[in-house]
Amino acid sequence: MTAVQRLLCAASSGGAATVARRRMTALAPEQTPLAAAFPFVVAERAKRRPAEERNVQWVFLGCPGVGKGTYASRLSRLLGVPHIATGDLVRDELSSSGPLAVQLAEIVNQGKLVSDEIIINLLSKRLKKGNEQGESGFILDGFPRTVKQAEILDGVTDIDMVVNLKLREDVLVEKCLGRRICNQCGKNFNLACIDVKGENGLPPIYMAPLLPPNSCMSKLITRADDTEEAVRNRLQIYNDLSQPVEGFYRHQGKLLEFDLPGGIPESWPKLLHVLNLEDQEEMKLATA
Ligand code: AMP
Repeated sequence: MTAVQRLLCAASSGGAATVARRRMTALAPEQTPLAAAFPFVVAERAKRRPAEERNVQWVFLGCPGVGKGTYASRLSRLLGVPHIATGDLVRDELSSSGPLAVQLAEIVNQGKLVSDEIIINLLSKRLKKGNEQGESGFILDGFPRTVKQAEILDGVTDIDMVVNLKLREDVLVEKCLGRRICNQCGKNFNLACIDVKGENGLPPIYMAPLLPPNSCMSKLITRADDTEEAVRNRLQIYNDLSQPVEGFYRHQGKLLEFDLPGGIPESWPKLLHVLNLEDQEEMKLATA
């Protein structure tokens, strides 16, 4: 993990080409101007640990509203690895009174992407904190979102698998507009009841609402970027900038495509099946 932190920092100053060049030569992130601003840069060579000696390093891809956070956090609990969502890191920063908050609010509320430098800085800090607490492995959600970010990540660590969650666009918009968060416990809910008939060769899809308990009902808030305009903007940005990331990982043979068949009750067991994790869940339930 330390390698990821150090090199993410290094990468933020020069982009993918620089990363590739550094990989060929001696890696010296501590010498880059940006890296110097990060307190955890150490002058140690990057080490990549083989997959069998560490926890999983997975990435979740998918359009806004598809449910990356839901499935990534369930899997992280099952596998005992952290679920790191860059959107959460951005929202934490927004809710702080830090110097970035005002600058970020405008970008995020319009559904635009924040700069690679900012996102890599936030991710590096999160990885550093986790590393200090003994975390190993990760499930990334919301990163990488551009081919450049994917190349940077590729330059610093080995991603084992990339799960690409897919859902039709009309359903995505409804799901985003129905999304609510409890401002006390932080849990996500969804008020939308999706019930779309099958047509034009597409299967029908039913997703029951994910309703909050009574204790959360009066504390529900909507994300500022879940307005229809911002959601459509985010979908457009996803199609333009993030979809090429699918191709990047498909080309590496790491992409696992997963069409969501419905809500959590239908999708979760199928996802576990394709990931070969059914036994793991049974064991966990048996020992709970
Ligand atoms: P999300 O919760 O993943 O939809 O992210 C919310 C917002 O955070 C996005 O619309 C972006 O403004 C910002 N964001 C999250 N991850 C990234 C990223 N990898 N690159 C750039 N911006 C990001």
